[in-house]
Amino acid sequence: MTTVIEPAVEDAATDAPEPIIRLSGVTRTYQQKNRVVKALTGVDLEIRPGDFLTIQGPTGGGKSTLLQLLGALDRPTSGEVRVAGHDLAKASGADLQRLRAHEIGFVFQGFNLIPTLTAHENVDMALEPLGLSRAERAERVTEALAHVGLADRGDHRPSELSGGQQQRVAIARAIVKRPRVLLADEPTGNLDESMRDEILAVLESLNSEGLTLIVVTHDSAVAKRAGRRVRLAKGVVTEL
Ligand code: ADP
Ligand code: MG
Repeated sequence: MTTVIEPAVEDAATDAPEPIIRLSGVTRTYQQKNRVVKALTGVDLEIRPGDFLTIQGPTGGGKSTLLQLLGALDRPTSGEVRVAGHDLAKASGADLQRLRAHEIGFVFQGFNLIPTLTAHENVDMALEPLGLSRAERAERVTEALAHVGLADRGDHRPSELSGGQQQRVAIARAIVKRPRVLLADEPTGNLDESMRDEILAVLESLNSEGLTLIVVTHDSAVAKRAGRRVRLAKGVVTEL
C-alpha cells in the first residue's frame, strides 16, 4: 500500500510553489561588549509566495533580527538564508542592494515619513534607485496611493494626515517598487483600534492580490487574520 501512496506524496511536494525565502539552520549572534548574544539559534523556516505569516513573541526574542535576514538587510552568522534565489552569505553587496530595491518592501512601527514632503513625494522617494522616467514614476506613485485608499491625499504632508493614513502612505512607499515580499515590524503598534483595522484591511487586500506578507506583531487581532503564525522566543521559531 505504501508504494502506492508514496509517489503521490512526492508529486504533491513537487507541485508546491518554490519557497521565496528559505532559512536552514540559521544562527545570528551579536558581540555585545564582553559577551556574545545568540539572537537566533538554528532557525528553519520556509516562506512561500502568497503566504501571510505573522511572527509573535517576547521582546528580545529575535523578531527584528529575523526580519532583517528575511529582508536581506543582514547576513546569518551560520546556516543558510536564501531570498528569491540568492544565498545571502555568498551574494555581493550590490546583489543584496538590488534584491532589496526590487523584491522587498519594508514597513516599520514608526512611519518614518519625511515631514517636509507630501505623501506623493514620500512615496516617490522609494523609486529613486529604479531609474524610471518621470512619467512612469508619477503613474506608479498615483497607483500605489490609490491602492491604500489615499488617491485624494497625495498633496498632504504627514502632519495633515491621521496615524492610520500616515501608515498607509508608508505602505504605499513600500509597495510602489512592486516587491514580491512585504515585511512589517509592528505596523499597527502606534495605532488605535480603528486605525489598526484600517491597516489590516489594506494588508489583507494586498495579500489577496498575491503579495507575500510577513508581519511581526504583538497584536493577536492581527495574528488571527494570518494564514500562518509562528512564535519566536529565545531565538527559536515554533509554528503555531
Ligand atoms: P525582538 O525584535 O524580538 O525584540 P531582537 O531581534 O531585536 O528581538 O533582539 C534579539 C537579541 O539580540 C536581544 O538580546 C538583543 O539585545 C540582541 N541584539 C539585537 N540587535 C543587536 C545589535 N545590533 N547588537 C547587539 N545585540 C543585538
Ligand atoms: Mg523588535
